[in-house]
Amino acid sequence: PLVLGIESTCDETGVALVRGRELLADVTASSMDEHARYGGIVPEVASRAHLEALLPSLEAALASAEVTLADVDAIAVASGPGLVGSLTVGTAGAKALALGLGVPLYGVNHVVGHAAVDELVHGPFPERFLALVVSGGHSSLLLVRDIATDVVELGQTLDDAAGEAFDKVGRLLGLPYPGGPHVDRLAREGDPTAIPFPRGLSKGRELLRHPYDFSFSGLKTSVARYLEAREASGEPFSRADVAASFSEAVADVLVTKTLRACEEHGADTLVVGGGFSANSRLRELAAERCAQAGVELRIPPIRYCTDNGAMIAALGSAVVRAGLPSSPLDLAVDSQMSLSVPVVLPPAE
Ligand code: ATP
Ligand code: MG
Ligand code: FE
Repeated sequence: PLVLGIESTCDETGVALVRGRELLADVTASSMDEHARYGGIVPEVASRAHLEALLPSLEAALASAEVTLADVDAIAVASGPGLVGSLTVGTAGAKALALGLGVPLYGVNHVVGHAAVDELVHGPFPERFLALVVSGGHSSLLLVRDIATDVVELGQTLDDAAGEAFDKVGRLLGLPYPGGPHVDRLAREGDPTAIPFPRGLSKGRELLRHPYDFSFSGLKTSVARYLEAREASGEPFSRADVAASFSEAVADVLVTKTLRACEEHGADTLVVGGGFSANSRLRELAAERCAQAGVELRIPPIRYCTDNGAMIAALGSAVVRAGLPSSPLDLAVDSQMSLSVPVVLPPAE
């Protein structure tokens, strides 16, 4: 079956076509440039941009796959989690298409989609695997036994997401928004062992209570204190060392907890997704420690890690393959959607 996927949870409008595990078209429009001057995403601006980008993206995707709407067998849409206004635009479009074409509608989970897309790149998933989804909006560790029916959220961030922490530290270091890639670049020139920044929820009682949760706001505060103290005293310091030591702390916590979960759950495959998986230290450390632990590391190319339509079409295709019932046509968006829900099922009779 040919599945059309629509993504509009945040600032990217994505429309993609997947048949089985084959990606036929993937079109993404981003309103990031419009938000950059505000130093953060403006929800109203994002919603309007989705409205303007949705139909042109749909037409471009159909043209690129050389199919027409009549060929589409099912519609998948990310109905949460995300910004309510943004979700509403994509979901309204998906409902209209499903109703008009007389094909089933599937409301799917955006975060699970970040893992699902890897099937299009590296082939069918093993019987169980761990997925680390890290971006500007989330940092979640998922245990996946079936991408369409059995996803368990082992942990998530209690405060800032990894990318968000990088953006805040970027601001502290006077770097342009979004700071993540700039901090990453600066970190390459510094010493990751120079400053012992804290690893959140990694020791004693906190670790016991939150074995797979993350916390990055204490780390960010430590960076702020470090910079304030140096500015107050006039003592010289290296910005590159700050960036490198901070990056090391984030990557270390993410990889340590993730590999511990692989061991506990007997998973020998790790999928990493979300825009933060561009981070060079995370990639290095994950590759190094996965090799040591005998865990296969799967990271899709970066265009499939940032928000895109292919991830939603991929998850929709898995849901269709699993034979799940379609979502109701009055499907509600769910900005806080639980990360253990791959697809929104109709209410039980
Ligand atoms: P989502 O809705 O999935 O949270 P998002 O737009 O917030 O989407 P993405 O676009 O997936 O997030 O990822 C962007 C985030 O990743 C930003 O916070 C950005 O600063 C950060 N980021 C991107 N590249 C790097 C990098 N190389 N190192 C560190 N952070 C990075
Ligand atoms: Mg984005
Ligand atoms: Fe995302």
